Amino acid sequence: MSKANDFNYCPNCGAELPFDSKFCPDCGNVLTSDNTQAVTDQMRSRLKIVGIFSLIFAVFAIISGISLLASADAIITAMQSDADTWAQIIKSMADAGYTEAQTIDLFKSMFVISGAMALIAGISAGVGAVCSFIAKYWILGLIGLIVATVMMLTSIIGLIIGIIFIYLYVTCKPVFLEDKAAPKVEGGTEPQ
Ligand SMILES: [Zn+2]
Repeated sequence: MSKANDFNYCPNCGAELPFDSKFCPDCGNVLTSDNTQAVTDQMRSRLKIVGIFSLIFAVFAIISGISLLASADAIITAMQSDADTWAQIIKSMADAGYTEAQTIDLFKSMFVISGAMALIAGISAGVGAVCSFIAKYWILGLIGLIVATVMMLTSIIGLIIGIIFIYLYVTCKPVFLEDKAAPKVEGGTEPQ
């Protein structure tokens, strides 16, 4: 399926375009090749920003996740070493009906769950970052960014930043679709 203009989707708003559109019916964007080229370049740099920040987050989250998983026991030992605070924790947990052993298990599973969530968030963000950099596998990258954001549920700021990045990523969809199509001929040959 080839079309007379370069885009199947509006490079400005992402709306699907009718055959041979001169304007986007959704946002009124003029679809000249100069205009579309500028908008595509803008999208590529936007994608690069999404990729860089997702990658930084991914590295940070993976390191945090692994260290949390690896040191769950050590954290509890450290907590126990502050005898007064630990006694207070055990006392209030006893009031809530937990024995000391149950309290330790509870803390340990909290650290393990947090570590696993951070690890999943990091790997997912890494997938999103790779898809952004190579501008391929749009759906896979989107799922990665969504999973990473969902894993941030405990942090409002993380959630907001995640949603902003998902939004930026989604608005760059035309770049992914463009790369999937046959390479454009220099000078803009128009296939019928
Ligand atoms: Zn549009």
